[in-house]
Amino acid sequence: MGEPQRVNFWGIPMWAHYVFWIIILSSAVIMFYGIYRRYLLWRAGKPEMRTDRLGERTVNFLKYAIAQIKILRQRYPAFMHLFHFWAFTLLFLGTVFATLDADILPPLFGYKLLAGHRYLFYKLVLDISAFFMIFGVLMAWYRRYVVKLERLDRDWRFALTTSLLILIGLSGLTIEGLHFAGIGDPSWGIWAPIGFALGHLFAGMSHQAILNWHLFFWFFHFLCVGTLFATLPLTQIFHVFLAPVNTFFGTLESHGALIKPIENIEEAEILGVGRIQDFTWHDLFSFDACVECGRCQEVCPAYATDQPLSPKKLILSLREYMTRHADQLLHPPEQDVDESGMPAGEILFGEDGISYDTIWSCTTCGACMTECPVLIEHVPLITEMRRYATLMEGEIPDTLGSTLTLIERSGNPWGISRQDRTKWAEGLDVPLISEKGETDILYWVGCAGAYDPRNQKVSQALVKILKAAGVDFAILGNEEQCCGDSARRAGNEWLYQTLAEANIELLKQYKFNRILVQCPHGYNTLLNEYPKFGGRFEVVHHSQFIAELMARGKIKLREDSDRKKFTFHDPCYLGRYNGIYEEPRDAIVASGLQLVEMEKNRDKAMCCGGGGAHVWMEDKGDKRINYARMDQVIATGAEGLGVACPFCMIMLTDAAGARGVDESLEIKDIAEIVAEHLA
Ligand code: SF4
Ligand code: SF4
Repeated sequence: MGEPQRVNFWGIPMWAHYVFWIIILSSAVIMFYGIYRRYLLWRAGKPEMRTDRLGERTVNFLKYAIAQIKILRQRYPAFMHLFHFWAFTLLFLGTVFATLDADILPPLFGYKLLAGHRYLFYKLVLDISAFFMIFGVLMAWYRRYVVKLERLDRDWRFALTTSLLILIGLSGLTIEGLHFAGIGDPSWGIWAPIGFALGHLFAGMSHQAILNWHLFFWFFHFLCVGTLFATLPLTQIFHVFLAPVNTFFGTLESHGALIKPIENIEEAEILGVGRIQDFTWHDLFSFDACVECGRCQEVCPAYATDQPLSPKKLILSLREYMTRHADQLLHPPEQDVDESGMPAGEILFGEDGISYDTIWSCTTCGACMTECPVLIEHVPLITEMRRYATLMEGEIPDTLGSTLTLIERSGNPWGISRQDRTKWAEGLDVPLISEKGETDILYWVGCAGAYDPRNQKVSQALVKILKAAGVDFAILGNEEQCCGDSARRAGNEWLYQTLAEANIELLKQYKFNRILVQCPHGYNTLLNEYPKFGGRFEVVHHSQFIAELMARGKIKLREDSDRKKFTFHDPCYLGRYNGIYEEPRDAIVASGLQLVEMEKNRDKAMCCGGGGAHVWMEDKGDKRINYARMDQVIATGAEGLGVACPFCMIMLTDAAGARGVDESLEIKDIAEIVAEHLA
């Protein structure tokens, strides 16, 4: 026997070749037509730059699409996806090589690609890939139909696609076995171990029977492949192809920054997103890229507490809305507003689309974006819709609307006079930068630190630390006003931009080296969002600054005599959005307290329920996010809870009262813990 090589169309009569090409080409035409229709929809979105900084985008693609680092966060799906991904990729490449080998290379170049050792290696890889593809699908079935994970849907598309994959894999291996039986057990057959083993099952059959069955399975195999192709634009497989592309288009900005400011806000006729044609092409593309894994839903605190929001369902509803309103997207009204000045075209909100309650349930905690393997940007999308709801429709929760009015009038959400902004510092001899002229550290106290009685104590503790360390610092005093975080997350971009511009102008008047902030929301806003408005400052959170003072030996701490057990709650805007996890824990440990972790900690931590301007909204019922988080605190058996955010302090103190542990559980900011343990 000569060198092993691929025999194209072994045992297949000529008429069957034509039928094969009819099946494959017609299904490919149906598939490409379906993809083209979706492409037309994406293209109809508003422009957005997502093709710049190609090097960084390629790195993201390698990290998230090839190495799939987000999928690796959970072991079972990690293995399952690795099997699917590599089996699929290798089988696809195998088909490309087979086509090259059959119809292109030999006739054009007289070169046989799949021959000798190359062919043996090819057989081995494809055989194993087919096995792992089947195994991966069985794992997926187990999760959907046996474990019945809530986050995964069990619909006809999934059943059809996975059944087709199994049938394609099994029929492919059977064809191979029949081929081996037909050519009589070649010595190299072991290079395709599964097909070779199957071949022995057909050993007793006549040659004609083998040929007949081979032809039958060959047709069956390609009918399944054709059906898979033709239905691809409707099924999860399509989204699996789009997902890696979406990782390439993912934002390169810090996740803490809301990435789409409204440009020329005074002149814009439509503020935010309220109609399907207001989304950008990337938004629309990302709806189709969702692979429906439900990881976002599983970690969403709003979903966990029965509020009307599932980030997965939101994205899928938007996808479905895009399909149903394709006509409006492809042929939008010529003018954005009609003669009466109202937005032209059907509005996204309402029974037929997205409910206002859904978008107002989000705390912007970012857990969904941290988990999403395909980098879908839920929070910017939700905020865009909130902008429309707030600025175009006035559809904003009552208490939040009143808070924004207070910010507008008094420069702070408490509505207390600006003249009282420094009352917390009375008797502490805290210098004002307006009097001092310049300083090393400009301490941005924030509205909560200035006005909320509980958080004023945190400001006082921080001043004690700064003085003990001999830090050259000053505050803005009555000149400081709200940073704008709540206004922006509530969709009032106009108010946010007004505040941001005024603050930046004020800060630019003074000379300082760094801004020290105790509120993660203010920290995130000044660090990540003000640069877009021309305010580039060096900003440090108080947990980082305290860690720095300890490391430089500027403050010394004495060990807690009782060695109390403390747990720490990671604020979303400090942890997930800005990657600060260890510094607050270092302060707790350095104070001699015993640190115990909640099950959900660091980037998996559950929100306190106060972000996204929720601290200003009225929650009803017994299932609240802050209560659920407090239950997790109580489960640790800790005697104390460390926080590093004024909103977390407010929400969790409220929850401790509701759960009846306000007497037994100390809740302290890390500045207070450190100040109490200063040596
Ligand atoms: S940001 Fe948080 S609350 Fe909002 S959808 Fe995502 S996980 Fe849910
Ligand atoms: S949005 Fe992301 S995490 Fe959520 S279901 Fe879709 S792919 Fe999964």
